[in-house]
Amino acid sequence: MTLIDPALLKTRLGVLAGRFDVDSLAECDSTSSELLRRAERGAPAGTVIVADQQSAGRGRRGRQWFSAPEAGLTFSLLWRFNGPASQLAGLSLAVGVGLARGLEGLGAQGVCLKWPNDILLRQGDGFAKLAGILIELASDRRGTQVVIGIGINLQKPAGDLPQPAAGLNQAFDVLPERHELLAAVLVAVGEALESVTVDGFFGLKNEWQVRHAWQDQPVQLLADEATPLLGICLGVDNDGALLLETESGIQRILSGDVSLRRIASTPEVRRL
Ligand code: ATP
Repeated sequence: MTLIDPALLKTRLGVLAGRFDVDSLAECDSTSSELLRRAERGAPAGTVIVADQQSAGRGRRGRQWFSAPEAGLTFSLLWRFNGPASQLAGLSLAVGVGLARGLEGLGAQGVCLKWPNDILLRQGDGFAKLAGILIELASDRRGTQVVIGIGINLQKPAGDLPQPAAGLNQAFDVLPERHELLAAVLVAVGEALESVTVDGFFGLKNEWQVRHAWQDQPVQLLADEATPLLGICLGVDNDGALLLETESGIQRILSGDVSLRRIASTPEVRRL
């Protein structure tokens, strides 16, 4: 039995248990799709849906997120967001900082961040994807709510993926128990969300930067049907925009509808 038990989770959340209203499902299409539907029906901020199995787990832009019972932890959190829309850009980065803090607080080693929404695990000279974050907006008559979907691999996923993947068991000597993991992550992500709501991304920028996987590395930015943009990854600015040093100067990339890839250092990139 792998289902999360909300009562057990409450004991792990301790004094913060009242902030979260957790529903644990054996299966759903996607925890974020289910939470978006519940948000429309008036679900309060702090609602969490965790599912043992997703039949249509989603990443960004309709991409699939694969998870299997016992091998992953997939959940979504509803959060009321009262800040200006300009603060939304840094939201997925802030969630990444919260997720990394939560895992590190339990003893995880080698957790890194990739712009805009991935958690990577350092493996030798390389990196493999450990978790994904999907941020979606749900508006209701009371304003904007944010649905934050998080998928964490507890074990390395089976099957072929276009990019290397890793499991959280590779970041620990002994993987913490699932309720302990989920509680630590919920608390840390909640704190990061509060911080970004009050101060914007600025207050978390340094914490993002120290975990940045590809700082000063050659990268390419892939956008649908456009020529890849080559550059050196300089990290992020106070708003969470990516800074890329290209042939034509430093470019600031705000849109997350692009994919970043590390590349071997080519002569063109070295000249930059
Ligand atoms: P990119 O790495 O191109 O920027 P993305 O951040 O847009 O990707 P996400 O939306 O976060 O990607 O995640 C979806 C992608 O992640 C899928 O296209 C697939 O390649 C990969 N993926 C799906 N499931 C897993 C998993 N369990 N572990 C690691 N990677 C996965």
